[in-house]
Amino acid sequence: MRDLSRDHRWLSLNTATVRKQGSLIDIVEACARHGIRAIDPWRDQVAAVGLDRAVRAVRDAGLELSGYCRGGMFTADAAHRQEARDDNRRAVDEAKALGASCLVLVVGGLPQYSRPGSAPSKNLALAHDQVADGIAELLDYARATGMPLAIEPLHPMFAADRACVNTMRQALDLCDRIDPQRQGGLGVALDVYHVWWDFELFAQIERCGLERMLAFHVCDWMVPTTDMLNDRGMMGDGVIDIPRVRAAVEALGYDGYVEVELFSNRWWDRPIDEVLSTCVARLKTAV
Ligand code: ZN
Repeated sequence: MRDLSRDHRWLSLNTATVRKQGSLIDIVEACARHGIRAIDPWRDQVAAVGLDRAVRAVRDAGLELSGYCRGGMFTADAAHRQEARDDNRRAVDEAKALGASCLVLVVGGLPQYSRPGSAPSKNLALAHDQVADGIAELLDYARATGMPLAIEPLHPMFAADRACVNTMRQALDLCDRIDPQRQGGLGVALDVYHVWWDFELFAQIERCGLERMLAFHVCDWMVPTTDMLNDRGMMGDGVIDIPRVRAAVEALGYDGYVEVELFSNRWWDRPIDEVLSTCVARLKTAV
């Protein structure tokens, strides 16, 4: 397990963490002030400044991308399936232009929430099949582009609206189903917030192996959690044994970025420099 206590070379900032404090350009500048060498930007933040300008800003700052957030939302009714397909191919292209290491996939829940305007459905089994079909189809395009796809299992409280893939086992079963020969370009993004509670977590990390471990996201689980989406904790403030999870991931040989990703009303209220210096400090003591 790497010693992260001395420097923050392996810290990446998911830009949603400070999305309320400024534009992507502001965030890139703040990362430079704090010696942060990688980010994982969101598509809406890139779109707000324009893809070309975002590409230039990332390149000029010498930043790496530990991922690009996000593709997915494959679940849709027939009228919205083409939209899902086109949108995901654009996400792959943007990730490639930005030099991301992978495109993170939040796969979608029920169609009416994942692709608004879709006819209401309660058929979760159909959603599972649409996700598998959607990833399989996108994988051909992503492989041709040279962009790995990282399925991010989300906590089951998001099964209806964001992702009906909710455990590492389920994500890895999907990888096996879509890529049985392990030809590559498909894996998972492990976010401790979503999977820390899973009694199978450590067995599934072992099963995952290095080649399918494409990204590692950290924050903390607050007790009580007061908002389903926007009450993630700063590392060390909650109940997740983050070092134990990181040790298991790094035992695979993982030596990539540790990406800090908070959606938090309390941290969005604070100055960007305070948030980033806290991320750096907590990486050294609580991750
Ligand atoms: Zn994440």
